[in-house]
Formats: sequence, structure tokens, C-alpha cells
Amino acid sequence: MAKITAMEAYKLLPKTNCKDCGEATCISFALKLVSRETELGKCPHLKGGNLEELSDKVTPYVRPVEIGVGGSAIVVGGEEVMYRHELKFFSPTKIFIDAGDNMSEDEVEDRIKFAKGFTVERMGEVLTLDGLALRCGSDDPKKYGKFVEKVSRKYNGPIILCSLNAKVLGQGLKIVGERKPLVYAASRDNLGEVGGLAKKHDCPLVVYSNSLQELGEMTSSLGYDKIILDLGLETTGSGLGKTIDRCVMQRRLALEDVKELGYPLLGAPAAIWNNSKDPVVAATWESIIAAILMDRYASLLIVHSIEPWSILPLLTLRQCIYTDPRSEPQVDAGLYKVGDPDENSPILVTTNFSLTYFTVSGDVRKYNMDAHILVIDTKGFAVDTAVATGDLSAAKIKDAIKEFNAGEKVKHRKLVIPLFASHLRGAIEDETGWEVLVGPRDSSSIQKYLQEKWQT
Ligand code: SF4
Repeated sequence: MAKITAMEAYKLLPKTNCKDCGEATCISFALKLVSRETELGKCPHLKGGNLEELSDKVTPYVRPVEIGVGGSAIVVGGEEVMYRHELKFFSPTKIFIDAGDNMSEDEVEDRIKFAKGFTVERMGEVLTLDGLALRCGSDDPKKYGKFVEKVSRKYNGPIILCSLNAKVLGQGLKIVGERKPLVYAASRDNLGEVGGLAKKHDCPLVVYSNSLQELGEMTSSLGYDKIILDLGLETTGSGLGKTIDRCVMQRRLALEDVKELGYPLLGAPAAIWNNSKDPVVAATWESIIAAILMDRYASLLIVHSIEPWSILPLLTLRQCIYTDPRSEPQVDAGLYKVGDPDENSPILVTTNFSLTYFTVSGDVRKYNMDAHILVIDTKGFAVDTAVATGDLSAAKIKDAIKEFNAGEKVKHRKLVIPLFASHLRGAIEDETGWEVLVGPRDSSSIQKYLQEKWQT
């Protein structure tokens, strides 16, 4: 949970209620500050020890770290809890596709296109990838520099420069340092050189070790806070279990305010490909291990596969994990057109739980049907829950018909309600005067259902 309560934050504020921060009072600023709806910098009157103390207290246990600049910059970390139901997780895991200077031009081109263009629409949200990780397979600074230069002309999203060779990283930073790439990685052997490069270019830095104690020593000796941790990934035997244990331990220690370890985690399941010759097996395992790491607190993943079937589960899992558990995902109530419905088209009644609405509208679209969908405000509850709580009721359906002028959009007077709301049928007919048809259990059979039952 947050390190500080609103009342504790208020005590450190000037308490003049001057409104310069845009809030009516200092207490409302304090409330927004601890719920991360405003920033400390908006109070220009906070100074000295109070500023320092409050600044420390509102910095999340897992510090947020920015990669990139301007509109394409992304933030990783910024987390405050072990389990999302304790509050929420704030920064969805960023997924980077790797590309290397030892790949053919065509392969690199394919990877750039995939990183830029692979999108999936789910529950009204467009899910995308986040960046490119540029590996140096040649260990040749010149060759790597040319590669980085070529890729950076075609791709303007966030970049990771990957090598353990400081000369290689230095060459990459000469070319794209202004874009604030993530520098990957400083290990015990190159900490001074690579750490120095990251500081010189003011870029975020990955610090690598599979020992938490060593990582803590390295981060505290750096005196730099734009840090991401790589705990190493062991993929064989009991190694994977040990990797997961380290990830969990790191989050626990961060939440105990062990500052040397209070940074986001990076995982590189792309390493799987080093041990597998079969691309299908490698992509499958990579996807599984990436999912495990995402579940165990990885804020950033580097993957090699550009197969949609192996990336899609990661995007959907990420959406699920990072949905705010304090509120149901909802769409606005209303009368929506799907396809090109006219006055004879059916009106399908459903709830405003996003997954329900997008499933029903997706099924209508999939079969090239035309329908009106009457979405009732059920506080985001799905049909069965909304019926049980009374949030889907005959009275609410009557109100929605009136509010969204359903009677003017069609010349018939018929509604199709979900099967789970079937016992409301009589009440809806009494309240509205409309004929009610009970729809199928699942909207995937809506086409067959309407072909058999719908007549005007
Ligand atoms: S600017 Fe600072 S002092 Fe003024 S109301 Fe806001 S929090 Fe209070």
C-alpha cells in the first residue's frame, strides 16, 4: 500500500489553501497526491525538509522509470503492492521485440513492421507492442552503430541497446542517445564503464545479476536512480523456479522499502531461443515463460517470436492483470448500431460490462448481421450478476428505451434479452408493452437464433 496516508501528507503541506495547485484546499491536494491523481510539483510552496520527506513518501516502492522521449516515451514500474487487489498495478508490462545486427535486412524489416503494426482490439482497447530491443550479435561497435542507425530511421518508438560491451553501447548511444534508450546491461564486470555511459547520456540503465545482494550493492554504488533490474533467467531444471523466487523476493524487499532494490524488473525470455532449434517449441516456451514472468512482476519483457499466436496471449494476459480491480470495465449505456441496422432490425439487450458488450457486438459483426444493441447501465456487472443485484431490471430497460429513443429507431416493438435474464421477461413486457424474446445462452449462436426466431 501507499507509504503515506492523505492526512500524513496534509500535515507536511503548507496548509494555506491558496489554490495555486488547482485544488480548492490543501487536503484535497493531499487526497489526490496519495491516490496519484496529481503531482507534488504542482504545489509551488512546498520547500525544504517537508518537500524532501513528502517526495520520498509519494515515490512508489518500485520506482517509475521512463524510457524514450516525448510522445513515444513509456514508463515502467511505479508499483506499490504485491497483489493487485490490494490497490491496483499501475504500469502494464512493456513488451519489446528483439532484432540483431547479425540478422538479414529482411528479417530486421519484418521485426520493425511487427513491432510497429501488430495490434489487437479487445474489450474496446487496442493492444499493441511497446518497443524494439537492438541486440549486438557481432560484438563489433561499427557494425552495431550502422545497424542502430538504420533501425532508428525506420522506427521512432522506444529502444533498448543490448550488449555487455561498453564500446558497443557507447557507439549506439552516440547515434540514439538523444532518444533516451534503455541501456542493457551493466554487470559486475562493466558497472563503472556502462554505468558511466548511462549517466553521461542521462539514459535508463539495466543492472544485471542473479544475486539480489549483489544487485543491491551495485545499485547503491551507482548513485543513479534510472535503474531497471535484470535478475537473470534460468530456463532449465530447477532454474526457472529459482528465477521466480528471486522475482518474488525482489518485490517483497522493494515493498519493505529496501531502496537499493526498489526498481522495476526486466525479463528476457528471448534467451529461450539459445537452447532450442525448433522455432515452434521455442516460441511456445518463450510465450509460457514470458507469461510467468509477467505474472511475477516483470515490468518489461524482451521476446524474440513474431508469431501472432505466441504474442497474442501475452497481450491479453497483460490486459487482464493490469485492469483496475476496483472498478468493472464498462462501456457507456446507450443504443448502439452494429452493422447497418434499420427499422426492422432486432434490438438486443445487454449490460454495460465491457466484456459482455464487446462479445455480443463482436459476434454480430462476425456474422455480418445488422442489429441495434441496447446497453443498460448495470454498474459494469455482467448479466447474471446484474439480474441478481437488480441492476438489470424491467424498470431500467423501460427507462433505457425511453432515454435512447429506441421506439423511434424501429417500427417493431420487440426486444431480445439474454437467456440469464429470462425470468424478467414477463415484467419487461408488463413495464414496456414490448414483446420480449429470450435469446441464446451465448451470443456466439446469435446468428442461428435470429434466423430461426426473428420476424417483423
Ligand atoms: S498550492 Fe500547496 S499550499 Fe496551495 S492549496 Fe495547493 S497544496 Fe495547499
